[in-house]
Amino acid sequence: MPSRMQRKRGEGQWALGYREPLNKNEESKKNDDGLNVRRRIIDIYAKGGFDSIDPADLRGRFRWYGLYTQRRPGIDGGKTAVLEPEELDDRYFMLRVRIDGGRLNLDQLRTIADVSSKYARGTADITDRQNIQLHWVEIENVPAIWEALESVGLHTTEACGDTPRVILGCPLAGIDADEVIDATPQLRDIHDRYIGNPDFSNLPRKFKTALSGCTAQCTIHEINDIAFVGVVNDEGEAGYDVWVGGGLSTNPMFAKRLGAFVRPEQAHEVWAGITGIFRDYGYRRLRHRARLKFLMNDWGPERFREVLEKEYLGYALADGPAPGGPRDQRRDHVGVHRQRDGRYYVGFAPKVGRINGDLLHVIADLAEEYGSGRVHTTTEQKMVILDVPEERTEALAAELEAHDLRVRPSTFRRQTMACTGIEYCKLAIVETKQRGMDLIEELERRLPDFDEPLTININGCPNSCARIQTADIGLKGQLVTDANGEQVEGFQVHLGGSIGGEFGKKIRGLKTTAEELPDYVERVLRNFRKGRNDGESFAA
Ligand code: SF4
Repeated sequence: MPSRMQRKRGEGQWALGYREPLNKNEESKKNDDGLNVRRRIIDIYAKGGFDSIDPADLRGRFRWYGLYTQRRPGIDGGKTAVLEPEELDDRYFMLRVRIDGGRLNLDQLRTIADVSSKYARGTADITDRQNIQLHWVEIENVPAIWEALESVGLHTTEACGDTPRVILGCPLAGIDADEVIDATPQLRDIHDRYIGNPDFSNLPRKFKTALSGCTAQCTIHEINDIAFVGVVNDEGEAGYDVWVGGGLSTNPMFAKRLGAFVRPEQAHEVWAGITGIFRDYGYRRLRHRARLKFLMNDWGPERFREVLEKEYLGYALADGPAPGGPRDQRRDHVGVHRQRDGRYYVGFAPKVGRINGDLLHVIADLAEEYGSGRVHTTTEQKMVILDVPEERTEALAAELEAHDLRVRPSTFRRQTMACTGIEYCKLAIVETKQRGMDLIEELERRLPDFDEPLTININGCPNSCARIQTADIGLKGQLVTDANGEQVEGFQVHLGGSIGGEFGKKIRGLKTTAEELPDYVERVLRNFRKGRNDGESFAA
C-alpha cells in the first residue's frame, strides 16, 4: 500500500502543494493558459493556415475556444485506437457555440444560420447540452465567425477544454407556469463573472454546471459536476439545493446533495467556491480520474461542504430541503404548453438534434411570425419557440411539421439521442447520427402505436456524450463479430438505466451489429409488451 503522502502526491492536488505537472495535459496548461490561444488564432494561424498551427495549440488549447479538429473522412472505427492523433486529424474543425441556458433571440439564431451556411457547409447539430455545433470550419475563417457571433452576444469561449463549460438552464426559465424559481439572473451572473476568467481557466478536467428552477428538472442535475436545483425552504423562500460530483463517461456517478440551502444572491460565490475546490483539490495526475466526481466519491458530501464553508466561503450555509422528483417521466419541453403569462410555447423535435443552416432560418422566420422571436434549445437536442398566442399554436405546429420538425413526435423521435459519432469525432468507433435517424424511422414504421416513455441513447464509443448509462436502452458503439465472423460496427447494449435511479446494466453477450439494430430494438420492445404487468413502464 502506498503511504498517505505518496498517494496525495500521486494525485497532483494543487492545494497540497503539488504543482508540478504530472502529465502532458497538465504541462501544456502550465506552459500557457488556454485562453491565450485566441490571440494566436487571430494574429497567426488564421493568416498562416492549418500548417502554421503549433501542435500543442491544435490538440490542446484550441478547445478553450470550442475548436476540435474533426475526424479525417474514410478512417474506419477499427483504426480509432491504433492510429496516432495526427493521423486522425482532418484539416477542418468542429466549432461549438455555447448557448448558456439555451437562450437564443432572432439575431443570434439568424447569425448562427448564416455562419453555418457560409463557413460550415450548412451543418448544425443541437447538442444535449444546449450548444450548437458546426462542422467543416477552416481556421482562416475563425476570426470572421467570432466577429459575427460576438456581434450578437454569442461566443465560443470555454465551450470545450478543462474549463467551466456551457451552463445548462431550463429553456423556459421565467416563462414556465410551474417553475420554483427563475434562475436566469443567477445563470447570467455566473456566466458574466467567471466564464473566460483566468481564475477558473485551468481546471483538472471539464466542469459542467446546471442551474434551474424547472419542475420538469430538464437540466438533469444528477449528472452535472455542480447543479443548483430550485427548492422552497420551510420559511417559504425560494432558492437552490446544491448537488455536486455527477458525471457519466466510463465510470458513471450521480451527483450528491450537500444538503445546503443557497439563496439566489449566494449562488455565484457558492459556484466559485465549489469550482475553486475542484481547481485546488481536484486530481490532476490521471485524466480518467480527474473529474470532480472522484474527489466527491473520496471525500463524501459532508467533508466537501465543510471545506467549502471553511476554506472558500468563510460562513456556514443553512440546511435546506431536497427537491421533489421531476413532474413527469419525460424531462423535456416538447409539445404545446401554456406559459405563465397566458401565451404558449411550442417545443419541437428534429431527429437526434440534426438541423442545418437553412432550417435555422426557417425556424427564425417562424419564431418571428408566430412568437416574439425567442427560440431556446433544450438538453434533449430539441428546440422551443416561445410566446405564441393560443389561437396561433396549431398553425405554427403545422408549419413546423411541414419541415419535419415534429411538435407531437413519436416516442422514438422524442426520446432518441445520438452523439456525434464517426462522421466527425476522432474517438468514435461507429456511426451514430444517421443510424439514430434510420432507427427512429424504422421503429415508427414497425411499432406505430408505441407511445410510452422510452429513451434510446446512441454513443459512438465508450465515452458517454449521449448518456448511455441513463437510458432505457443505451447503445455503446464498438466493433462486434457478425454471423460470418467478420468485425463490423455494432453496439454493446445497456438496459434499464434511468436518471437518478439505476445505471443501465451491461449484460454480457448483449450486443448487436449496427445492421441488426432495428430488429434488436423491436424485439426488446415487443418482448417487454408481452411480459409487462399492467401500468408497468419500460423503466420499472
Ligand atoms: Fe465521440 Fe464517443 Fe463522445 Fe460519441 S461518445 S461524441 S463517439 S467521444
